[in-house]
Amino acid sequence: MVYRLPMREICICPACTNPLSRVVAEATAEARERFIAFSGKKYRGLMDPWLDQFALRVRQCGGCGHAWYAQQPSHDQLMAMYDASQPLRPGEAKHEPSPSMRREMARLRRLSPAQTPTLLDYGAGSGRWAAAAVETGFRVTAFEPSRTRTQERHGIIVIHELDDLAGPFDVVNLEQVLEHLPDPASVLSDIRGLCRDRTVVRITVPNLRRAPEGTDLWRVWPFDGSRPHTLAPFEHLHGFTPESLSILIGRAGFRPLPDWRCARGFTLHTARQALGRALPQVRSTKLLVQPFEQASHGAPNNAAPTRERTESLSQH
Ligand SMILES: [Zn+2]
Repeated sequence: MVYRLPMREICICPACTNPLSRVVAEATAEARERFIAFSGKKYRGLMDPWLDQFALRVRQCGGCGHAWYAQQPSHDQLMAMYDASQPLRPGEAKHEPSPSMRREMARLRRLSPAQTPTLLDYGAGSGRWAAAAVETGFRVTAFEPSRTRTQERHGIIVIHELDDLAGPFDVVNLEQVLEHLPDPASVLSDIRGLCRDRTVVRITVPNLRRAPEGTDLWRVWPFDGSRPHTLAPFEHLHGFTPESLSILIGRAGFRPLPDWRCARGFTLHTARQALGRALPQVRSTKLLVQPFEQASHGAPNNAAPTRERTESLSQH
């Protein structure tokens, strides 16, 4: 007979380390049915047996509101899941950068005084953001652990192994990546080691407080039959709030770019940041941050990231 060790349950908030959390969604009979439907449509049934291997359960922090899967698949399981992924609707997969991606990269380019600034697109997925960055004049490195997803493109250095990443970079782009990582705090600390003092790190994650599911967020979890949930198992392991993201970046040694630095090009973003300091409800989960010296920060600058911290990344 094979005995399995009980799986570790993550009870402490991965964003703010608050020990007080509660279960907000778990595998009722209806949730299991929705899970099997999602597994079939999106991953050809690959995740079906996982229901018997660990608990399908979401916890939420009593402090910052961060939500996360209490038990998570292994690294190898996550990689197999990404490899089996297929679009929910035919023709959904896109490969060329959109006009808004190009505009965003042009704004980032204006923040970088170097003649040919370097940009790391961390968790590059199919490479659309990296392609937009090349068009805008960056020298681009795309990091993506899944070899099946990143397309070779002209002018982009594609890296699949974290140990092969060599900084520092002028700009780091983390477009909808952190929510996919089992341990986003460790990865952010590693990225800090790839930064100069004036490196700009752009971070976006889905905002749990503005989820498209609205007040039905947990009622329709984990799948409403048509689109991936804000906490879709198990690509989105984390659900961020503006508070949880803000605390997480501080723990990793980053702070928001001062208004005077990002005003050029990011006018709307700067205005929103300023408003958010007075009205928490307008704060967003898009941040432009830069490194700062922490008295207790353990990771030395330019430290090589560790392979153990590489986990699954996003799909765009
Ligand atoms: Zn928290």
